[in-house]
Amino acid sequence: MTDVSELTVEEAQRLDHQFLIHPLHNAAQTADGPLVLISGRGSLVRSADGREFIDGLSELWNVNIGHGRGELAEAAADQMTRLAFVSNYNGQANLPAIELAEKIVSIAYPSMRSVFFASGGAEANESAFKLARAYWKLKDKPSKTKIFSRRLAYHGVTYAAMSATGMANYHTQFGPLAPDFLQIEAPYWYRWDGWAEGKTPEECGAWAADQLEQAILREGPDTVAAFIAEPVQGAGGVIPAPDGYFRRIREICDRHDVLFIADEVITGYGRLGTWFGLERWGVEPDIVSFAKGVTSGYIPLGGIILGEKVDQLLRDLPKQTAWMHAYTYSGHATACAVGLANIRVIEREGLVARAGELGARLRKGLQTLDSLPCAGDIRGLGLMAAVEVVADRKTRESYPESEAVGTRIVAAARDRGVLIRNRQDVVEMAPPFSTTEEQIDRIVEVVGEAIQSVTGG
Ligand code: PMP
Repeated sequence: MTDVSELTVEEAQRLDHQFLIHPLHNAAQTADGPLVLISGRGSLVRSADGREFIDGLSELWNVNIGHGRGELAEAAADQMTRLAFVSNYNGQANLPAIELAEKIVSIAYPSMRSVFFASGGAEANESAFKLARAYWKLKDKPSKTKIFSRRLAYHGVTYAAMSATGMANYHTQFGPLAPDFLQIEAPYWYRWDGWAEGKTPEECGAWAADQLEQAILREGPDTVAAFIAEPVQGAGGVIPAPDGYFRRIREICDRHDVLFIADEVITGYGRLGTWFGLERWGVEPDIVSFAKGVTSGYIPLGGIILGEKVDQLLRDLPKQTAWMHAYTYSGHATACAVGLANIRVIEREGLVARAGELGARLRKGLQTLDSLPCAGDIRGLGLMAAVEVVADRKTRESYPESEAVGTRIVAAARDRGVLIRNRQDVVEMAPPFSTTEEQIDRIVEVVGEAIQSVTGG
């Protein structure tokens, strides 16, 4: 079937069914085998059965520079040929990790100072939570342990990251959650009661930020370590923060001595048209979590960027102690070499600005779907966009869950050659930064057709 395997499509699907457990998947409910993708170039990917698709979500919000970049493969091969693996424990280091840490600090917020590497987003967030708790213990405030996050947040699914994730379906099979993780409301204007009274998204943002302050006061500021938020909630339904929200959040965190962690696993490395997501609002967090876009998904890598305060703390550790947090693959040389090559491509091709321009085109295009009776909310920021499909635009009433409208729209788009994703009836898009204008327009066209084919209008 393919240029890389002797398997036929049918054999691959049968073996998949028997041997491979997929994330977020119930094999018993899936009649068709998986779509097996075998190659890609730019924003196009090709399946084992010879079909071609536009990658409308950069696979999982991560293939930012597009598929098929030989330069990244060469960086990996070069590093692998030199050294299989270098531990960063025990006073050792490797050059790509050093260089990439320096590079990341140079493109991140001005107050950022250093980097600790992990292998993905959940591990990055675990590191951020542990650093926040360590910070307060070392500041002689050991009771500051609680971590606040928001409903519909996605922070990964390891134990603490899952506990911060604000979607109940990620919890039900696995409770009890880790202690001291609490959630507040998100600034989700479209689903906020205030809209019916004519209140604006900015008013929703102020209200939602105040929810944090009230929660801190209710729990007691002496018990709260940190607040974590995505600049644009991604998997939860592409929910951008209204203007003013993060500025107010920063003030509240400062007022109550709470660290602010920005989860930039999706928004980091250019997706919002700026290197990091909070830049547009002139706000700086204390810790940044990153993953995905640091290597454009070519190899697993994640980590945290430490702002001034937390960085200083680790430098001031008492001599007989150490930062007792570790991953074998913290600063993996091959992954870091690929990260460096990826950032070189982004810089050379001006892809941060390009993401901003393409995002504007995508959102403008999607606005043409406003004429559809079921297009409830069309929203986005940078190169992230969503259409929230509703049964009734006036009341914002959703379709019954049993109708699985969002899932069917995604399937209809796939049948028409565009890969996207949904959370319930929110249809989510985030194509690569190297997508062409024509491909962006095609995504819009297909999403429109898919919505109409499922909802009948
Ligand atoms: N945070 C955010 C904002 C994410 O979007 C994701 C992944 N979708 C994660 C964390 C978790 O990353 P990983 O799957 O690499 O653990």
